[in-house]
Amino acid sequence: MAVEYTPAQRNRLSELGLAEEDILREFETEKLRQASFMELEKLAVRENRERIRDLLENKHRVELCALQEELASALCENGFTQVTTPIMVSAKALDRMTINRDNPLFEQVYWLDRKTALRPMLAPNLYELSRQLLSSQKLPLRLFEIGSCFRKESEGKSHLKEFTMLNLVEWGTELEERTDHLKAFARIVMKAAGIEDYGFENENSVVYGEGLDVVTPAGLELASTSMGPHKLDDAWKITCSWVGLGTGLERLLMHREKAAGIHRYSKSTVFLDGACMKLK
Ligand code: ATP
Ligand code: MG
Repeated sequence: MAVEYTPAQRNRLSELGLAEEDILREFETEKLRQASFMELEKLAVRENRERIRDLLENKHRVELCALQEELASALCENGFTQVTTPIMVSAKALDRMTINRDNPLFEQVYWLDRKTALRPMLAPNLYELSRQLLSSQKLPLRLFEIGSCFRKESEGKSHLKEFTMLNLVEWGTELEERTDHLKAFARIVMKAAGIEDYGFENENSVVYGEGLDVVTPAGLELASTSMGPHKLDDAWKITCSWVGLGTGLERLLMHREKAAGIHRYSKSTVFLDGACMKLK
């Protein structure tokens, strides 16, 4: 009777970065299976070791950090200003975003205490910062932030509990130019990320309502967009029209690098820049 790799063997090969189709193989005997596993593991360990060596000797910077810089440069060249805001947010700020008990996203929030949470998105702080800037500065105003966000997610290949979000916003976009601007900004982001194979799709968000998503040919969401005037704006006394885009940097890397899972490019002590560090 034919045998497949054991679950432990499959896990190990997958951790080392082998594609699913290379792990789904059948052997006539357990001995042949063991020989094949040993051979594949040896090759994969060598490949991972070489990638790590290349990082340490030549690249000197993991892709996640390099991507942050590429995105920041591209956006600053296009008139955006980079800002940075606290990772801890108040329950009040989340409530203003309608992230309360009635919103499915509420269950995904990590609470530090009754009044403070780790931010699940950058928007509440960007709204607050913008509310203050808009009272004294001219329109249009282009801002962005890149930073960690946290969501309780059921484990999967495309979701992390801690991920790096880029959120950009343009306040004061002409009403009839909103879709064009959103697409132009999405193109700037995708170009800076080195991604060419993507498309636009209409999407319904639990926070923002109707919006346009940037998706891969396989249908994976790379970025979500939204536009205003929007009913959320009232809480920040914002009245101008605007467009915004949010994307996860690890998601972009996973797609660009054709990685088997997002964890390889996450902030991690198991993976380093796409390579597995368990090489023994
Ligand atoms: P999905 O439907 O993929 O769960 P979402 O619609 O909940 O994503 P948004 O709130 O629209 O996500 O966040 C904007 C972007 O942030 C997403 O397009 C994705 O690139 C990224 N993102 C969201 N959640 C995660 C996560 N848990 N891990 C990694 N990236 C994420
Ligand atoms: Mg979305």
